[in-house]
Amino acid sequence: MEMSAKDLVRVTIEAASEGAPHEWSTGGHFSVPASFLDATGLRQHLEDDGRLTIPAGFLPVSARYGEQLRLHCAFTETPPISARLPFSYQRVPVPLRTIVARVVSRVRRRSLATNEGFPAWPLDLSADLLLDLACEEGRQEEIGRTPVILTHDLDTREGLQNWVQIFLDLEEAVGARSTGFVVPCAWPLDLHLLDQARSRGHEIGVHGYDHSNQTAFLDSRRRIERLEAARELIEKFEVRGYRSPSLLRTRGLMSDLSRYYSYESSITTAGGILPVPSRGCASARPFRVEGITELPLSLPPEAGLCFIGFRPHEIFELWVSCAEQIAASGGVVVLLTHCEERFSGNSETREAYRLFLDYVASSSSFEWSTPARVLEREIV
Ligand SMILES: [Zn+2]
Repeated sequence: MEMSAKDLVRVTIEAASEGAPHEWSTGGHFSVPASFLDATGLRQHLEDDGRLTIPAGFLPVSARYGEQLRLHCAFTETPPISARLPFSYQRVPVPLRTIVARVVSRVRRRSLATNEGFPAWPLDLSADLLLDLACEEGRQEEIGRTPVILTHDLDTREGLQNWVQIFLDLEEAVGARSTGFVVPCAWPLDLHLLDQARSRGHEIGVHGYDHSNQTAFLDSRRRIERLEAARELIEKFEVRGYRSPSLLRTRGLMSDLSRYYSYESSITTAGGILPVPSRGCASARPFRVEGITELPLSLPPEAGLCFIGFRPHEIFELWVSCAEQIAASGGVVVLLTHCEERFSGNSETREAYRLFLDYVASSSSFEWSTPARVLEREIV
């Protein structure tokens, strides 16, 4: 059941049996392994144009197909240029980094628009489809409201200030609480602000070591030294989760994180743009990997969308459309925004976030949740 990138076939689900666990997939686009089509006999239900009918009475397949597809492109084992510089890329001035990121992103925007790759952008739920094809019968219980988790990567002192001074009010106004991932060893953290956020019911997470994009790629001994540096913060603020800077993640990192954290949330569901394109897990459901629970980042983060020139209302509409598909599939909505002025910290871009908060709060399909609450549910 070994799989290579060439082995994946793009299909559109033409029809799924009513009441089946995979019913939500009807009309959607997915990538499935050719070996899966052959082994399950589905190949004979595949049209030349990619339309695939899942016949009534289709027998459950092994869950290994979905589990394998989920990890097929999940990691960023090759460091991006920012992690290979002889100095921290954080020493490159922000305006210059922004220009580089914009140029790279816009060059890639065209390929995104016609993205047939794996995982697809802006959303790919192929692994979840395969997992549902492995289910014996309909879901045990009716899917309740879809959990929505709000997270922020607080890369700078400014980001942390904005989170506490601007974002908490916005979130609390709609009954939501967020998790702010802070960088433990880049600048002196204002612990008073962290206390304030916690006392208002928000959570603190850890965002790397010094945000130099190195930790994921170090050998385990040197990586542990960096992870240890956050120990005081973890204990003082009862930190349970980790988000890797620039979403860089390796199997080695996951394995070492399991010593310190209950969950990790750096694997995107879709193939993203930066820092490493076409990497993601094609799942919007929490899963276990290397001894830790992964909480996939299921909505496209705002930073990449800003770089490729999305306007705030386009960002909002994209989030809504992805969130609705995730809800139908039984996934978890996890959103990442940045609180710095150059991202959602400015009032214009923040409008996308505010609109999304209002949308979720007024919808009967969603409920505000937190990583801890989602972790309490059973993990497949
Ligand atoms: Zn960051």
